[in-house]
Amino acid sequence: MQVPFADLRQQYQAIKPEIDAAIAGVIAETAFVRGKYVNAFEADYARGYGVEHCVSCANGTDAIYIALKALGVGPGSEVITVANSWIATSEVITQAGAKPVFVDIEPDYYNIDAGKIEARVTARTKAIIPVHLFGQPADMTAIRDICTRRGLRLIEDCAQAHFSEYDFGAPKGGKRKVGTIGDIGTFSFYPGKNLGAYGDAGAIVTNDAALARSMRTFANHGSMSKHEHEIEGINSRLDGLQAAILSVKLRHIHDWTRRRQEAATIYDKLLAGLGGIVTPKIRPEGSHVFHLYVVRARDRDGLQKHLESRGIGTGVHYPKPLPFLKAYQYLGHKPEDFPVAYRYQREILSLPMFPEISREQVEYVVAEIRAFYGQT
Ligand SMILES: *Cc1c(COP(=O)(O)O)cnc(C)c1O
Repeated sequence: MQVPFADLRQQYQAIKPEIDAAIAGVIAETAFVRGKYVNAFEADYARGYGVEHCVSCANGTDAIYIALKALGVGPGSEVITVANSWIATSEVITQAGAKPVFVDIEPDYYNIDAGKIEARVTARTKAIIPVHLFGQPADMTAIRDICTRRGLRLIEDCAQAHFSEYDFGAPKGGKRKVGTIGDIGTFSFYPGKNLGAYGDAGAIVTNDAALARSMRTFANHGSMSKHEHEIEGINSRLDGLQAAILSVKLRHIHDWTRRRQEAATIYDKLLAGLGGIVTPKIRPEGSHVFHLYVVRARDRDGLQKHLESRGIGTGVHYPKPLPFLKAYQYLGHKPEDFPVAYRYQREILSLPMFPEISREQVEYVVAEIRAFYGQT
């Protein structure tokens, strides 16, 4: 049996008529960049999130960059983010002219450890960017409190957490979708994400009209109307084909999320009690949309090789925490600055996870994990 890490072809086959019609429509109307399909997707996405504004852009990296610029982050500022993420989250802080400040992860949920944030706040700190990594929310009660108390802006990197929710409890605001908790929520629609385009795409959501306007302007060469440029901006546009594809796929996202959650439940059940493996824990306040199903494994590299030899695709997210990448050597960090992220980098393993994965495929993956540890 083959179990790929993800399977985008199967998903396309399942919705081929809808997708092909959407693509043909864009081409027939030559609505290639911005235009009616992009406006429609922005409206669909804003409605899906129950927010006032959705600003589309070229990718999820630009989304964070545009958010930082709109919040006035620039030279002399510091922005706090998490040690374990994809470099997109931190490189845009530098590109905005500010300094990235990293915080270790929580041992149970692999997100930014809110209890370690305040020690890194200085007079220059402008914003915090929690990442809802692997599909589950960060500790938003604590993070929101810190932002309020210290006067910091809050950008949520939701690239891996489409429609994930966090429950503040009734007196404190109840259930909220991630991306609508802070000032700005940013999304990637990279093909492999839970909601994926057929190329690069991204979006930003906010309820703040002034921020929305300034992000829309900045992403479009500093312009809100043709040949009028209020500022110098960048070229970060969503194209019509991606927008039309995303509008189709948006109709299926909740079904796909449910199927990811079902696959995760099967993994949980079959892996329970297996020595050598720690299965993912779900935060009591959060829902997990399982962009990735990440376990911690004894002899991770050995297990990964064994699974590969049995036709099972896996991944590591990420092999090196951001502060230990060559790009951040200049910050001079040591392993003891981020002990949890440092320890986990050799243990974490992402197992095959996609909505179409079958029960038989999950059973086969688990059987091969048991065989590796001699616990059949
Ligand atoms: C994918 C991803 C991004 C960047 O999105 P792109 O669309 O690839 O630019 C940012 N942050 C996280 C956590 C991601 O997983």
